Amino acid sequence: MSKRIGLYPGTFDPLTLGHVDIIERAVKLVDELVIGVAINRDKGPLFTLDERTKMVADEMSKIEKKSGVAIRVVPFESLLIHFAQEVKAEIIVRGLRAVSDFEYEFQMVGMNQALNDDIETVFLMADARYQAIASRLVKEIARLGGDVKNFVPVAVEKALRAKFAKS
Ligand code: ADP
Repeated sequence: MSKRIGLYPGTFDPLTLGHVDIIERAVKLVDELVIGVAINRDKGPLFTLDERTKMVADEMSKIEKKSGVAIRVVPFESLLIHFAQEVKAEIIVRGLRAVSDFEYEFQMVGMNQALNDDIETVFLMADARYQAIASRLVKEIARLGGDVKNFVPVAVEKALRAKFAKS
């Protein structure tokens, strides 16, 4: 039997406990998970693509060990659906928070289905403790000197502190 590959794409600027929770759920659905780190120039990311890719990869060994599912963290710059085809993903995993995510995700799925109807998008919800976490707000809090330890992994908290200490 061929193995089922899932793709979880995002900007991960930075990785939050919300993302981690979604990844822990996604590995239950697939034999291999590719985490696609988008370059996302439009969003003007705080961390470089290399920093974000490493930040995500560093957190994955624990989840790999616990789940037995191989996780690959791969930066990408191409169209999402092309990248999904390239890594042979059958499913794209997205996280859903509040209603505010819905409109954007609804459009994305519609467009992606038109481009390739064989790849299904699956939506997962994080545990209630993590649902309100957004990378954008984490950056804002960290920039203003607030405590983000309940929102991000320890290494990310350190990286945020280092980033804002410089600026
Ligand atoms: P993008 O730029 O693709 O929205 P993000 O890194 O912001 O990238 O998010 C990647 C995915 O993770 C998206 O599907 C987003 O909705 C989801 N996500 C982010 N934070 C959470 C959270 N706290 N709970 C559930 N899903 C989340």
